[in-house]
Amino acid sequence: MLSCPRCQATIESTTIQCPRCRLTLKAHGHPGIPLHRTEGDESLCATCVYDADDTCNFPQRPDAKTCTLYRSTTVEEELTLPQPPIGRQISFWLGNHRGWVGLVGLLMLSLVLVLVR
Ligand code: SF4
Ligand SMILES: [Zn+2]
Repeated sequence: MLSCPRCQATIESTTIQCPRCRLTLKAHGHPGIPLHRTEGDESLCATCVYDADDTCNFPQRPDAKTCTLYRSTTVEEELTLPQPPIGRQISFWLGNHRGWVGLVGLLMLSLVLVLVR
C-alpha cells in the first residue's frame, strides 16, 4: 500500500492530492502524471538522467524540488543490461549492415580479380 510522503496517510496510486495533508501527488490534476518530489534538501536534478546527459531544458533545472519528467540515474544504472561478448557484438553489427558488408566484399573480390590478371 502506498503512503503520502509527507503525512504517511494511506493513498492509492491514482490519488491526485493527499486527503489528509493536501500534498499534491500528481501533476496537472491528472492521475496518470506522477509528480516526483525530493525527500531531502537535495535537488532532483542531481540524480536525474536528463541532467546527467545535459538534455533537460526545464527552467527549474538544476534546483528542481518537484518534477514530472524526473528519471533516476540509479534506476537507469540498474536497468542497463550487461554488454554481450565481442563475438556476438560483431555478429549483430554484421547482421545490421549486410548491405555494406556485401558491397565491401564485392569490391574486395573485384580488386583480387584485377590483381590476379
Ligand atoms: S527533468 Fe526535472 S529533475 Fe530532471 S534535470 Fe530536468 S528539471 Fe531536473
Ligand atoms: Zn499527506
